[in-house]
Amino acid sequence: MVSRGSSYPESRCEGRFFGRRVNCEQVPLLPARVVAWMLDDPRTIPYLLIWKSLSDGTVKEAARIAPYYEAAGRGGPDWTGAFEIKRHDGTEDFIRTLLRMLPRNRGRVRLLICPHCSIPRRGLYGWEPSGRFTNSIVRSTWGCRKCNLLRYASEGGALLIRPRGTLSLVFGTGHSLRPESWLPCVFTSPEEAAEAGVL
Ligand SMILES: [Zn+2]
Repeated sequence: MVSRGSSYPESRCEGRFFGRRVNCEQVPLLPARVVAWMLDDPRTIPYLLIWKSLSDGTVKEAARIAPYYEAAGRGGPDWTGAFEIKRHDGTEDFIRTLLRMLPRNRGRVRLLICPHCSIPRRGLYGWEPSGRFTNSIVRSTWGCRKCNLLRYASEGGALLIRPRGTLSLVFGTGHSLRPESWLPCVFTSPEEAAEAGVL
């Protein structure tokens, strides 16, 4: 599915998710650079992506990405490739990519075009806030941080550190490092994944 309709982003801004607080660092990230490796791989093979729980190591999300040749020539003049992303439950999305030149001849970077807002992004997220609690999340179609209504952990002062005593005199009030994004393990075959013990 390439688009959920032009009214989609607006329809989510009507307050249905008001007050929800889910940080993007808690949600599987599909980084544009992993898609770039796959699309640039001369073997033109699918890659398997596995997101493991950072706390207990169990597999929380899995997807297979592969080049999508049928889309060749169908997009606008500024996009250069598309891929399909399939989950183990059979759901499938087609996502376009864009090669952008970096300034001062520093090469090119591949970006993923968010299917909802059509803005080129460095990564897309596979879950969105929904469900019973303000911090509960459900599997969704892949979208950018904004369209999937996620925020950075540092927004709202969640990571503010207030050292006490002497330390505060030396360092003042600071912010801890931003949590890492939840990146996938990347495999180029199911056998490779099985060897690594994730399947
Ligand atoms: Zn978007």
